[in-house]
Amino acid sequence: MRLDPQEQRIYVRQSWLGDYLICPERSRLGVAMPQFRTGSDATAIGTGLHSAIEWALNSFDNAGAIAYEEMKEYAQNEVKKELSQPNLKLTKISDKPIEPTVDAMVHSWVTEIATEIEWGGTTELGFRYPSGLLASNGYEIWYEGTMDYMDGNGTLWDWKTAGRKYYANEKQNKAYQPTVYCQFAKRNGHSTSDTQTFKFGVMLRQEKPVGQIVEITRTESDYRWLNRQTQVIVNNALQSGITSAWPMNDQGTLCSATWCNYWSICKGAC
Ligand code: SF4
Repeated sequence: MRLDPQEQRIYVRQSWLGDYLICPERSRLGVAMPQFRTGSDATAIGTGLHSAIEWALNSFDNAGAIAYEEMKEYAQNEVKKELSQPNLKLTKISDKPIEPTVDAMVHSWVTEIATEIEWGGTTELGFRYPSGLLASNGYEIWYEGTMDYMDGNGTLWDWKTAGRKYYANEKQNKAYQPTVYCQFAKRNGHSTSDTQTFKFGVMLRQEKPVGQIVEITRTESDYRWLNRQTQVIVNNALQSGITSAWPMNDQGTLCSATWCNYWSICKGAC
């Protein structure tokens, strides 16, 4: 969440909303202490793969034209570069060589995901748009972010590297990222239909290549719910301020030394 007093706007990212819903304190610390956000070997692999996919989408005309060996080499180099960042948290992923896993993820993207994309779209599409609602301080609430790919048909894509397959129903019913992105497509005229489509292109982080496409649809009622939730969260944040703690939710698996950047100054400090 970011306040812009000049424009009288509050900008919200879907990742920050996601953090808030996992644990409000985690989202507060993300604003108050951004220097703690160091990432992990898992996020480094994800970032490296994203770079390789972006390169492929901008270098070739279709899935069949991808120079596969070149893409694998590109991905390996990008992942190595990301893994050399300082203060990275190492998880059990680093107990085994990472190269075969990176090769497998490239393979699954090229053979199972790239073939289903309408090529000729836009990579790393930055966006900002108003929610249409005001915060309690009178500022307009806006969304901002960068989406991985808007394809030639206007379908929105996000690449995920994951330890296990996604549960499609859970994502359809609850995921906020597709709602934030689809609302952008609707409000900005990229989609004129009543239903917008978003797809997760998931690559499993393992040596056997497994890809998965999870299709999500969104409509106006999803946008109303998202905007209502966002307004309440923003107003609570404004009321509480960021100098003292927000509710701490330690009930999920992400509350751990491995998956929460703030563990050492929060639950881990007790
Ligand atoms: S350590 Fe747990 S309770 Fe504390 S911020 Fe992280 S997720 Fe929340």
